[in-house]
Amino acid sequence: MLKIDLFPQVLKIEDSAQKRSCLIQQTTVNDTIIEKELWFLYPTELSLPEDHNCDSYLLAVLLPAMQMKANIIVHGSVSSELLANLTELQHVWKKWCPEQFFLVDIEVERVREKEGRVEGSILAFSGGADAQFSAYRHATGKVRYGTQLLKAGIFIHGFDISISDKKGFSGAQCLANHALKDLQLSLFIVRTNIRELWDINWENYFGSALASVLCAFSKYAGTGLIASGPSYNELFTPMGDHPMLDPMLSSGEFKIMHDGCGFDRSEKIKIISRWSSGVSNLRVCWEGAESNRNCGRCEKCVRTRLNFLVAGISDPVCFSSPLNKEILKNMRLSSSFIVLEWERICDEMIAVGIDDKWVEQVQKVIKRGPPLAFLFPEGSGRRMWVKKMLMRNK
Ligand SMILES: [Zn+2]
Repeated sequence: MLKIDLFPQVLKIEDSAQKRSCLIQQTTVNDTIIEKELWFLYPTELSLPEDHNCDSYLLAVLLPAMQMKANIIVHGSVSSELLANLTELQHVWKKWCPEQFFLVDIEVERVREKEGRVEGSILAFSGGADAQFSAYRHATGKVRYGTQLLKAGIFIHGFDISISDKKGFSGAQCLANHALKDLQLSLFIVRTNIRELWDINWENYFGSALASVLCAFSKYAGTGLIASGPSYNELFTPMGDHPMLDPMLSSGEFKIMHDGCGFDRSEKIKIISRWSSGVSNLRVCWEGAESNRNCGRCEKCVRTRLNFLVAGISDPVCFSSPLNKEILKNMRLSSSFIVLEWERICDEMIAVGIDDKWVEQVQKVIKRGPPLAFLFPEGSGRRMWVKKMLMRNK
């Protein structure tokens, strides 16, 4: 039987940071053993969980283990609440992707019972529209009864920006810092190799990886917010961070909350547009040459600019050149989900009375979109979902 042993390591100081790490021993088919080290570098001033606490490591390893059909043996402690939640979470993934994820057994040396959560929340923050929206709304008390006592944003190096890209990260960090400072929030940086360890679809793995990083902040704040992507009427499955799934990544000490699903992207941008420091430090671009500025021409940049247009702002300061129709001429949408986003924006443009010439150009881009058959094979759940959404938007 395939198995994965987790051996928590002693906390070390490395690169002027605290290194929490775990030795991962994978026993494969011929009893060959592969060893890997999973590590996280946290700021030195942070009080971290005890070395034996393996919540973070279990979160990191669960989905890869389910993919490999490998049972997990934890040579340390895990929260009883997390174990209960992960039992349910396994069923979600098995139903969503029955050919990819399998139920596995988790054996734990010590189960931690009856834990409490400290006050306050942290938010995964990399400077994009979703996280900015959550930061701004909670920090300024705009969620009324649902407002979280937000203390800090956490920017993870090793997720969207690879660990080797130090220059790119420091530029992006600078923007994130400016935006959060304006809201009197701290910014913590965490570096990790979690994304490099497995051959797993990042879209599926993202939420678990995020929870794995955030839960080590449990002594600083008891709740971790993951900013939503699609809103409640746009949800699809499988999806690595999902309002139903994310709470299942919670332990007795640390709760994970999915935040902001009540708003679509244009609505979020409209609210962010009232926050000037947010707009000037917004980072949405992944394709441009520099990670501390938005290229203004890639699909994500242009889509965001259209969101701004709908919100009544034609040239927000986070883009250095003015928006013109020429940019739309060669625009090609990469997936049906992106096409849906554009369709939604197009409807919104018509609803708020944007110039017909703009609407026409956007409609041309949508028409040019990728063929449905290529990305969504006949009979697949995703294809049916997309069809339903398209019909609804018509
Ligand atoms: Zn761009």
